[in-house]
Amino acid sequence: MIEFARIIGGKINPRLFLMANKNKGPMLNPNNPELKFALAAVRQAALLVKHIQAEMVSPALTKDDRSPVTVADFAAQAAVARALAETFPNDPMVGEESSGALQTPEEAETLDRITAFVSEVCPDADQETVCKWIDYGAAEPAQRFWTLDPIDGTKGFLRGQQYAVAFAMLVDGQVQLGVLGCPNLTDGYKQEIGGPGSLLVAVRGEGAWTTPLTGAEDFKQIHVSERSDPAMARFLRSFEAGHTNVSQLDLIADEMGVAAEPVRLDSQAKYAILAAGAGDLIFRLISSKMPDYKEKIWDQAAGSIIAEEAGGKVTDLDGKPLDFTQGRMLLNNRGILASNSHLHAAALKTLKAVGA
Ligand code: AMP
Ligand code: MG
Repeated sequence: MIEFARIIGGKINPRLFLMANKNKGPMLNPNNPELKFALAAVRQAALLVKHIQAEMVSPALTKDDRSPVTVADFAAQAAVARALAETFPNDPMVGEESSGALQTPEEAETLDRITAFVSEVCPDADQETVCKWIDYGAAEPAQRFWTLDPIDGTKGFLRGQQYAVAFAMLVDGQVQLGVLGCPNLTDGYKQEIGGPGSLLVAVRGEGAWTTPLTGAEDFKQIHVSERSDPAMARFLRSFEAGHTNVSQLDLIADEMGVAAEPVRLDSQAKYAILAAGAGDLIFRLISSKMPDYKEKIWDQAAGSIIAEEAGGKVTDLDGKPLDFTQGRMLLNNRGILASNSHLHAAALKTLKAVGA
């Protein structure tokens, strides 16, 4: 408890915000308690999972061994939930994980490992409290609530590549604040495994910003690219073919006359790169293997507000705004299109032309 209070007490330096904002654009309010809390919680969780990745993910990992991601997912959700319950006890949390699968004799060892890692940041953790904190994320959306993906991009985490801790606050069905913790992105956009990492943050109406995950606080405002020629567009796409529709994506690139190879990476780190202007378009197309797939709110909430506050546009594949009022999933939407805004109309037209 003391540890977390120390982190939220000391992290944001208002002078750095002022210095970062000489150009009179929108500005983050450094005294916003929700912002301070969310930055500290994501920083703590991202450092914890980075440490677990360094300790547990080895080149010798067998293909089916998901234990590092299991341990890291649960540990991060427990730590964030505990911090939320302590800081804003009336705010529910909708998290991706639940502890049910851990409470069996076969998983006792996994739960012990999770508890040991959580104890590094919450010294009072034991098996029972860790399960309780994880299940804090089982709440339903409310008038005001938070949503967490403790590790988005689990496949990237296991490959030792990109992943993100994604946390957002929603009020009246709208995302108001989002934070992404990206341990393998530098300056919010450069893919650098083992570098300082980045936090990306946006508050509705206050712009999108990045600061290093490790090292000194240094907030910089980020903006999407100015690119408007479809042929010059840089696509950001899932590494996993099963999370999109690869042949349709190729058709779209042909139709737009795009020559550049898409950048393939896991997780909402794609939104970070879009927001920082180093990529222009994200298509989440519908995989033919899962035609009825619906996006989960924790996979889009934080990334979408960061892209929007950086000047981007985020809709579904039909151009409809994302509807966060439908529970844990975006039931009223089909796939996702995120852009630097200048290329949005051209991308929607192309989606229609190829029947996506
Ligand atoms: P990515 O990092 O772009 O591969 O996306 C990772 C996210 O894709 C995960 O958080 C999953 O929740 C989500 N996902 C899983 N299956 C599908 C699917 N069939 N279509 C779209 N997204 C999926
Ligand atoms: Mg996810």
